Amino acid sequence: MNARHVVVIGAGIVGASIAWRVASRGIRVTIIDRGQPGGGASSHSFAWINAGAKEPVGYHNLNRRSLEMWPRFAQALGEDVDLRWGGKVSWESDPDAAQALVARVQQLQSWGYPTRLVSREELQELEPALRIGPVAAAEYSENEGQVEPQMVVGACLNRLRELEASVVTGVEVTGLRKDSQDRVSAVQTTNGDIDADVVVVAAGTATTAVAAMAGVHVPQAESPGVVIRTSPMPPLLHHVPIVYAPPLEDGRREIHLRQCPDGRLMIGEGDQESLAEDDSQAHADDLLARACQHLPGLKGAAAVPVPVGWRPMPLDGYPVMGFAREASNLYVALTHSGVTLAPALSQLAALEICDGARADAVLGPYRPERFVSVTAERASQMEHPRARHR
Ligand SMILES: Cc1cc2nc3c(=O)[nH]c(=O)nc-3n(C[C@H](O)[C@H](O)[C@H](O)COP(=O)(O)OP(=O)(O)OC[C@H]3O[C@@H](n4cnc5c(N)ncnc54)[C@H](O)[C@@H]3O)c2cc1C
Repeated sequence: MNARHVVVIGAGIVGASIAWRVASRGIRVTIIDRGQPGGGASSHSFAWINAGAKEPVGYHNLNRRSLEMWPRFAQALGEDVDLRWGGKVSWESDPDAAQALVARVQQLQSWGYPTRLVSREELQELEPALRIGPVAAAEYSENEGQVEPQMVVGACLNRLRELEASVVTGVEVTGLRKDSQDRVSAVQTTNGDIDADVVVVAAGTATTAVAAMAGVHVPQAESPGVVIRTSPMPPLLHHVPIVYAPPLEDGRREIHLRQCPDGRLMIGEGDQESLAEDDSQAHADDLLARACQHLPGLKGAAAVPVPVGWRPMPLDGYPVMGFAREASNLYVALTHSGVTLAPALSQLAALEICDGARADAVLGPYRPERFVSVTAERASQMEHPRARHR
């Protein structure tokens, strides 16, 4: 496809990355966001770059490829985005949970992923700041890391402005006008119409509604998550930036934590897809108290509740990437784990948009048309087990 003017709807980490990649190819780009760029799911993200929590192996490999692209992606952005490596540790004290952890490590190792079981002593050596209770099994994934999504969005937009792209904020897309050949000819906004040769819909949770404006069906599930913050603290984690610690009481879930560049810690409960909606101060205080038991340096921190964040979550949990059958110049870019996946998915999208290529060997399983004839009954079968039907 010969793209002359590409309009990207949504300036989260996914849309901003795609816009920057496309503009870098010398193509005219307009990126539109109805709010603050990076203020959607990207601002709520725990922002752990990983492939260890992903399956089956094809999806794991896509995440791994993107993880490995992050250093070059960040370097090309040319600004600090607080990309930090050092890995992730997790451990279990419950024997059943420990068995599951060992099995998971073995599976990841069979996929060639650099994760390994470690002893309690090694775990303590890896991150001396932790207070580690009983350990039935522990794991270290050495290649994982973290980044600040809003800094990434900011850097993409800075590069876009240098490339003379239009960055339009505070303007909402309200409609997509199609021509007689079922192509989107104009993006209708609260600030007037914008002509487009290609339209990228990267509107996060609103992708379903925006794509529907052109008759494109992109079903999602509801996936609320809560990651609280603390008041700024001196550096607490010295070697390993991402920590998953087991529950200390029955009936509770594990907690995960990391420290941001401003010294605040982010603390969440469960895994990266756990549903959580309690954004009260009491819940934030509880999470902090539990984190304090594992990281005593947190003593004296204040818990800052953060409103629920809604993960963009395709119905079956996997990315939706590619031109739509119902509107041939509309490119859908919707994914969970968008922080991990931004480097790879933006590169692939740019390849398809700018060069007219089809990266089917990688994106084949993730095309929008898999949802074209999804009936309500089939939808419930496809549904990602860790999300709620909308
Ligand atoms: C609690 C939580 C924890 C997470 N943890 C991780 C993690 O550890 N690792 C990881 O890789 N991923 C994680 N994720 C997922 C990741 O954050 C998202 O996949 C990613 O941020 C999605 O980026 P996006 O650009 O698609 O969406 P968003 O950041 O939501 O951006 C979409 C943008 O579209 C704009 N928009 C919507 N509708 C319109 C319209 N009509 N007109 C104009 N603009 C519009 C919005 O204003 C928004 O800015 C987490 C997400 C959450 C919520």
